Amino acid sequence: TIGRNLDRAIEAFGDREALVDVASGRRWTYAQFGAAVDELARALMASGVAKGDRVGIWAVNCPEWVLVQYATARIGAIMVNINPAYRAHELEYVLTQAGISLLVSSLSHRTSDYRALVGQVRADCPALRAVHYIGDPSWDELLSVAGSVTQEQLAAREAELSCDDPINIQYTSGTTGFPKGATLSHHNILNNGYFVGEQVAYTEQDRICLPVPFYHCFGMVMGNLGATSHGACIVIPAPAFEAAAVLAAVQQERCTSLYGVPTMFIAELNLPDFASYDLSSLRTGIMAGSPCPVEVMKRVVAEMHMDEVSICYGMTETSPVSTQTRRDDDLERRTGTVGRVMPHIEVKVVDPVTGVTLERGVPGELRTRGYSVMLGYWEQPERTAEVVDAGRWMHTGDLAVMRGDGYVQIVGRIKDMIIRGGENVYPREIEEFLYGHPKIADVQVVGVPDDTYGEEILACVIPRDPADPPTLDEVTAFCREQLAHYKIPRQLRILEAFPMTVSGKVRKIELREGYGQ
Ligand code: ATP
Ligand code: MG
Repeated sequence: TIGRNLDRAIEAFGDREALVDVASGRRWTYAQFGAAVDELARALMASGVAKGDRVGIWAVNCPEWVLVQYATARIGAIMVNINPAYRAHELEYVLTQAGISLLVSSLSHRTSDYRALVGQVRADCPALRAVHYIGDPSWDELLSVAGSVTQEQLAAREAELSCDDPINIQYTSGTTGFPKGATLSHHNILNNGYFVGEQVAYTEQDRICLPVPFYHCFGMVMGNLGATSHGACIVIPAPAFEAAAVLAAVQQERCTSLYGVPTMFIAELNLPDFASYDLSSLRTGIMAGSPCPVEVMKRVVAEMHMDEVSICYGMTETSPVSTQTRRDDDLERRTGTVGRVMPHIEVKVVDPVTGVTLERGVPGELRTRGYSVMLGYWEQPERTAEVVDAGRWMHTGDLAVMRGDGYVQIVGRIKDMIIRGGENVYPREIEEFLYGHPKIADVQVVGVPDDTYGEEILACVIPRDPADPPTLDEVTAFCREQLAHYKIPRQLRILEAFPMTVSGKVRKIELREGYGQ
């Protein structure tokens, strides 16, 4: 279990740092972290949280988030990660759907007043017994009852737990629709975090800068569990992503590893004062979550010292990582693929309709099986059956190619594939190409409805210089030399930013809306 795994780290690395919060300057060694987790675990037990009860966490990144993650795991409660961007309606859905009885929340974040939003929905969530706000007297009240449960009672609770128990309901990013709550066990996510850390060779010397939200598996599994299962230190640069704060934290804390979705790395690399940060402590890091452009990967290696940077591919439903590049992979494999299959996981690429395994080199749906496949969507067996088949294979909905050398390339989501005049067009290929245009800082390609061709290609561009964006003529001229005619964008939209999920993914759905014809 996660609790026993943490005990091992405390025993081996007790006086090394486990957690650093840059914004508040607070720090915990493994011994101190373990004591804080135990205190909160006893407090939760004293508040009546039983094994299997759902405890919600609705907060931006902060140390308490991490404490809740390990304290709930210690007592066998099921932690439910709630998206910090939610409004009242979505909050009510999650509180009700997951039957949350105790909620831990921040007071507010940016424009969201969490306390007011909880107030709006509370009467409609009968299961919800208690709410405690971090940084508020209600948090101290929660901790104040810890004394009524002894360390022996906590140990007795832990002894009842099995690694196959559910301990986490994690909602998917909601990139393609309404989020689904994946139910995950200790075995699912602890192993995944451990193996992700193993591939990038974490030790107690590593300090991992985590600007990715904890509410998502990238932060809480690949980040937090990846760190503690190897005795490394979790560094929280800021409550939410801010490019300058990330680089400042790397410099100040001498971080050896940095995580991010591609758009985060792009924002960091494009900071006007990028060159003034000392990033020489970086050795590795992870880019994942959405297609990682080769150009960006190369800049990360060359300009951020991340010689051993790794790409991961996965999804919430598979704990999350299924394939990962390794530190000894050559640059082409490390920047141009999502790596090879992780240990103890199977991957196949099939015809999505017949399910027949395809030859290597042919694009098809990626399916995966192993310890990492979720227990199921929380209380939604029909939806689970749509994606996990009788043989326990997870149907990812992603198109991929298994190359002859065993390295996997993600072509895109089946849902995002554009069919223009009968030709299949993969947005990814055009995006990769357009990253090479000198006036383009970031680009997304989507299909929009068209009377003649069924779908037409729209390029949404964030220009490098807002005063000098590329024109449609410039974009098409650039493409004409290198891309087949049916892949050339016919429409151009200049934007300042893309609509994003909190986990940092572009909501292509919104880019498509209102366009075409
Ligand atoms: P929802 O399922 O709610 O629509 P989502 O699929 O974005 O949202 P996640 O589980 O966070 O929710 O993301 C998993 C998806 O992210 C994968 O299915 C894949 O499409 C994409 N993805 C993850 N890693 C990579 C990667 N390295 N390259 C390309 N795509 C990736
Ligand atoms: Mg998904």
